[in-house]
Amino acid sequence: MEPKHVMIIGGGIAGMTAAWELAESGLRVDLVEKSGFLGGHAIQYTCKATSECLQCGACSVEKMLKNVVENDSIHVHLSTEIENIEKNTTYSITIKKSAAFIDAAKCTNCGICFEKLKDKGIIARGYSKNNIPLYAINNEKLCGNEDSLKDICPEVAISLNDAPSSKVLNADAVIVATGFNPFDAGRKATYGYAKFPNVISGLDLERIKRQKGFLARPSDGKAAQKIAFIQCVGSRDENLGNLWCSQICCPYALRTAESLKHKNPDLDITVFYMDIQNTGKSFPAFYETCKNDIRFIRSIPVDIFPVENDNLNMRLFDEIHGAPEMEAFDLVVLSIGIMPNPENKKLSEQTGIGLDADGFFKNADELNKTEIANKGIFIAGTAQGPKNIAASMAHAGQAASCVLQYLGVTK
Ligand SMILES: Cc1cc2nc3c(=O)[nH]c(=O)nc-3n(C[C@H](O)[C@H](O)[C@H](O)COP(=O)(O)OP(=O)(O)OC[C@H]3O[C@@H](n4cnc5c(N)ncnc54)[C@H](O)[C@@H]3O)c2cc1C
Ligand code: SF4
Ligand code: SF4
Repeated sequence: MEPKHVMIIGGGIAGMTAAWELAESGLRVDLVEKSGFLGGHAIQYTCKATSECLQCGACSVEKMLKNVVENDSIHVHLSTEIENIEKNTTYSITIKKSAAFIDAAKCTNCGICFEKLKDKGIIARGYSKNNIPLYAINNEKLCGNEDSLKDICPEVAISLNDAPSSKVLNADAVIVATGFNPFDAGRKATYGYAKFPNVISGLDLERIKRQKGFLARPSDGKAAQKIAFIQCVGSRDENLGNLWCSQICCPYALRTAESLKHKNPDLDITVFYMDIQNTGKSFPAFYETCKNDIRFIRSIPVDIFPVENDNLNMRLFDEIHGAPEMEAFDLVVLSIGIMPNPENKKLSEQTGIGLDADGFFKNADELNKTEIANKGIFIAGTAQGPKNIAASMAHAGQAASCVLQYLGVTK
């Protein structure tokens, strides 16, 4: 008998976990990812270990990516999106692949194109050696810059003759794992993100640490010495209409701060917060350790403005002293949270999955948050709501077992 076939939409940690679990159970999987790389947001995070593992989960994404690319039962479709889904006895799904322009068979991953076009951002590089191919064209930046690709590749792997293509695939079940959008820190205008170089987001911090190996100030490349983290940026904010707690930003800020202090005990780190979100059994003990190394101030700063040397003055209302205060830092990190993917509305129309009041996909059953009202389609990961890496993997594992039950593979 032919193995059952499952389509998974979204190749982040949730989609990859579901794909691998199903493939390991003998099913065939089509994994559709709209970007040029598997791994989603979490493949770009750095390890936050001190003298011990702080269980940030970053390394589990790398391991799962390796599992997926080495599994012959998982067919990965990169730079691909869903055009249409129809249900008869099974699902007929039309997928559309963007023009790739780089021939994966000819590309040797030498990186020459990436280096030559670095300033224009036309070539994107994956975050892991398991991102195969490692380089992809950034179609958004290509428009009007096509000539710069001519003769750039010594292997002649780049050709502008490629065109988008569509095809129809059949699936017995579908998992939607299209993830989240990081909060756009520019929406908090008083913090000066994208205006003051040394105001960065939690994602920028990961990028800088990965590229430089330390936390460099964007303005001058020097190691930051006096660092502020501002919590709840974009989350728990009535003015923005985002009332939910993103659940991930307290743990990532504290783990990052601890790992920075471990490397350089002289760093001066302050966390401005409303409440610290307690996530899991070991977190209270970890928080107590953090209190020895980091200054915590229960106040969310009102605004930020630049002073000499691109340092940043922060105005806040200190609850303890009960008066407005000012303090200067040389780097400010905005702990941005998890927002619904803006494409959820379109995907909701294509798949029939409802949206909740915040714009995440709505589960039909409070006990099993992977099930929706339509049988045969399931949801996994942060597409359903804020989760960390471990919780996204657990949710995806649950979605995979629901698919196996739905298809009669397990009871
Ligand atoms: C700044 C920051 C730091 C964080 N740090 C940590 C941490 O240290 N530890 C931790 O546990 N968690 C952390 N998190 C949370 C972590 O990022 C998430 O738990 C995890 O990424 C969720 O995985 P996912 O697969 O649900 O979604 P995503 O990572 O968003 O992946 C979704 C994938 O689906 C693809 N996609 C989207 N739409 C479509 C479509 N229409 N068609 C096809 N593909 C599509 C996307 O391109 C993406 O590859 C952090 C979050 C933020 C914002
Ligand atoms: S700190 Fe994070 S990335 Fe590093 S070993 Fe532990 S879980 Fe893995
Ligand atoms: S996890 Fe912490 S920083 Fe993030 S929204 Fe919740 S309370 Fe705020």
